[in-house]
Amino acid sequence: MENGSARWGFRGNEELNVASGTTIRGSLTNLMENLDKDDPRPTVPLGHGDPSAFPLFRAATAAEDAIVDAVRSAKYNGYAPTVGILPARRAIADYLSRDLPYALSPDDVYLTTGCKQAIEIVLTVLDRPGANILFPRPYYPFYEAYAASKCLEVRHFDLNPEKGWEVDLQSVEVLADENTVAIVILNPGNPCGSVYTHQHLKKIAETARKLRILVVADEVYHHITFGTKPFVPMGVFGSIVPVITLGSISKRYILPGWRLGWLVTTDPNGILCKLGVVECITGCLNMASDPPTFIQGAVPHILEKTGEDFFLKVIDILRKAACICYDRIEVIPCITCPNKPEGSMFVMAKLSVSLLEDINDDMEFCLKLAKEESFIILPGLAVGMKNWLRITFAIDPSDLEDGLARIKAFCKRHAKKQ
Ligand SMILES: *Cc1c(COP(=O)(O)O)cnc(C)c1O
Repeated sequence: MENGSARWGFRGNEELNVASGTTIRGSLTNLMENLDKDDPRPTVPLGHGDPSAFPLFRAATAAEDAIVDAVRSAKYNGYAPTVGILPARRAIADYLSRDLPYALSPDDVYLTTGCKQAIEIVLTVLDRPGANILFPRPYYPFYEAYAASKCLEVRHFDLNPEKGWEVDLQSVEVLADENTVAIVILNPGNPCGSVYTHQHLKKIAETARKLRILVVADEVYHHITFGTKPFVPMGVFGSIVPVITLGSISKRYILPGWRLGWLVTTDPNGILCKLGVVECITGCLNMASDPPTFIQGAVPHILEKTGEDFFLKVIDILRKAACICYDRIEVIPCITCPNKPEGSMFVMAKLSVSLLEDINDDMEFCLKLAKEESFIILPGLAVGMKNWLRITFAIDPSDLEDGLARIKAFCKRHAKKQ
């Protein structure tokens, strides 16, 4: 027989399966397989943050028009330069400079296929034998999964739930050594819903400077804040320490499927250039595929013409949803939220399994919740926090109410009898 698997000279790379199984998508696929197909109720998807599926979160008309015009102009049917087309780079430089004490140049901006590719580029650029990198915990597992495919050693520092999920800077100093290359910061935070103050960000920059390491700031949720703290970009502290800022239009503009992101060097002292990092970024992009040219062509109009009313509407819905989420969870004995979310689209909640009868950990909680209530949330283990839960509230608030009522009933049913 010719088709026995032993005789072929090739097979899939098992290491890749290990890495991809730890991503959020990997964990959610597992939960989706546990749904009860006979449950007539709609599934409540609070596992991953993609509000674009809800009519309430439809993208701005200005963005849709920009794409139509870009396509119809027939100017964007060819290949783009690997760093992106100049008008798009200039528009992003101007857009980000509004929040900075200095002006970015178009040369500081590199277009990427979503923020995800910007993460890939930065980790590839920093990847050297023996190097280690500092990631926060709880985490956004794509970083871990991608680093696992490189020779970068990952070290985790803790975020402190008692202090608004701020970085524990003492543990950062303990973790770092002479082979540490960078610290990654997510602000506004996924999965914590945290927003860092100017003062805290400055302390992070000063610590990184002391350790002589780069700061990588994932600001894919830039300006998605609805608490008391405004969004402050890490690039504000670019003269203290070089910063590479990652972002995209996926979250703020609710356009994750358009796959347009950026990697930006916010480094007014030009240190990254001197150290060869800039050259490496360009080299890396030469080998990667670009965001579609017509999307790049539409960027200046998307950024310029999306009105303030669109952002206000989205922020208003998210603020409402965050409140519903926090208030409803507060009355469920086995789940506690240490902080009311102030940004992004997520909140972390702690699960007290000791109050439950027949559930031993967060994974079992989420599997049974999927099966019994058609309700999907992410077990904390997927973001490095056993017996926590990560909940997305970026859905229609009425669906959210319905979903949280199901969690409440579920917890009551499984509560330990007194
Ligand atoms: C969604 C997300 C990304 C990926 O963004 P894309 O633009 O969709 O590639 C990166 N980082 C964090 C923290 C995210 O939540």
